[in-house]
Amino acid sequence: MTKYDVIVVGLGAVGGAATLHLARAGARVLGIDRYSPPHKNGSSHGDTRITRAAIGEGVEYSALALRSHALWREYEALTGQTLFVRNGCLTISGADAVVMHDVDDFFANVENAAKRFDIPMRSFDDAAAIRARYPQFAVAPGDKAILDEEAGYLYVERCVAATLDLAAQAGAQLLLDTQVMAIEPSASGVAVATGDNQRYTADRVLIAAGAWLPGFVAGEIARHFTVTRQVLHWFEIRSNPERFRPENCPVFIWQLPRRGGVESSIYGFPLEGDAGNGLKVTHEESGPSTDPDHVDRSVDPETETARTFRTYIEPFFPDLGPRCVRTATCLYTRVDRSRFVIDHDPRSERVTFASACSGHGFKHSAALGEALADELTYGEARHVDLSPFRLARLGEYLRV
Ligand SMILES: Cc1cc2nc3c(=O)[nH]c(=O)nc-3n(C[C@H](O)[C@H](O)[C@H](O)COP(=O)(O)OP(=O)(O)OC[C@H]3O[C@@H](n4cnc5c(N)ncnc54)[C@H](O)[C@@H]3O)c2cc1C
Repeated sequence: MTKYDVIVVGLGAVGGAATLHLARAGARVLGIDRYSPPHKNGSSHGDTRITRAAIGEGVEYSALALRSHALWREYEALTGQTLFVRNGCLTISGADAVVMHDVDDFFANVENAAKRFDIPMRSFDDAAAIRARYPQFAVAPGDKAILDEEAGYLYVERCVAATLDLAAQAGAQLLLDTQVMAIEPSASGVAVATGDNQRYTADRVLIAAGAWLPGFVAGEIARHFTVTRQVLHWFEIRSNPERFRPENCPVFIWQLPRRGGVESSIYGFPLEGDAGNGLKVTHEESGPSTDPDHVDRSVDPETETARTFRTYIEPFFPDLGPRCVRTATCLYTRVDRSRFVIDHDPRSERVTFASACSGHGFKHSAALGEALADELTYGEARHVDLSPFRLARLGEYLRV
């Protein structure tokens, strides 16, 4: 039986990228997924993801995003597909704004990261300036905005599929529709047991199981994660569809004013194709922790869609109507202050785990996968620094 250098559990955004880079480095790598990615059961679906370079969640993320942008461009050249559309990200904030991603200084962090990493930027210092350029947003007196011109959006399913195609071409073995049931480290290696009663062995295992990751790690780590159900909405565009075309509408993050029932920020994307496709714009659910195997994937038109429209869309988007063209549900795996957690399992140095979600991990996944592969192959990451995401650093960010 083949003993692999590394088995990767989970072939979504992060695991797929790690598998690609392990194979490129010449490792014997087996990637296993319980479904056939890209699929709709985890965190990597729903057409698009925002990518930014000036990162509000913390200055330590910008190098990951910039490295990922270079990698997405490389994958585009190799596959002949468009993966990344660079049309900017507008972050809007104002008086008494809600926080974004559980980070108190999000807007200031964006400004600081732009300066520190020399990221092309445009500032809009008042509501009139924002309205003059972007009349689709009904901003209020006192609002300000900043445009990260290196930002844009990624086609999420295409990115996952392209990464796995490239991984297979580089020599990775991919085992799909196969659930990992147990990971058993020992002094000589790690055994991985699957639902079809097979066992595979490797020197090391990387767990990149997204919303299912807490089930694989020790209880003292698992307690830091909550898995929350998120709902995506595409609302009808009733007027001025040209305002929402990518050339007129960057992706956006809006720290709304805390009134009229508003509890979270919203984010959205430009119109894709026909105006009848609607605009993907939604708010973030803080909701109770859920179980990824039993989450309700239906969307209630009254309690969810109508409420979202009344609270988060109608007061802020004069061109959008209440009819919802499409919905989807997806899972966030959250840690306080939207942290990533990437480390060895304290029970075995042979087992590494990577949780990079908290609602903002996709954009970083290409660089994270490369860095994880570097660590597993050469002992350290070459392009980015993973030290801010270690367990030992988590205490700095926990809300007690
Ligand atoms: C609604 C929503 C909006 C988001 N918006 C953004 C955004 O705009 N920008 C951004 O950067 N990020 C965003 N994110 C976050 C981003 O999508 C996630 O960070 C990213 O998809 C996480 O990737 P992952 O590899 O950790 O998980 P996934 O891609 O879900 O992969 C985990 C994989 O593990 C597999 N798996 C689980 N258990 C097992 C098992 N026992 N055996 C085998 N395989 C297993 C699963 O099948 C799955 O394929 C958003 C997330 C959501 C839900």
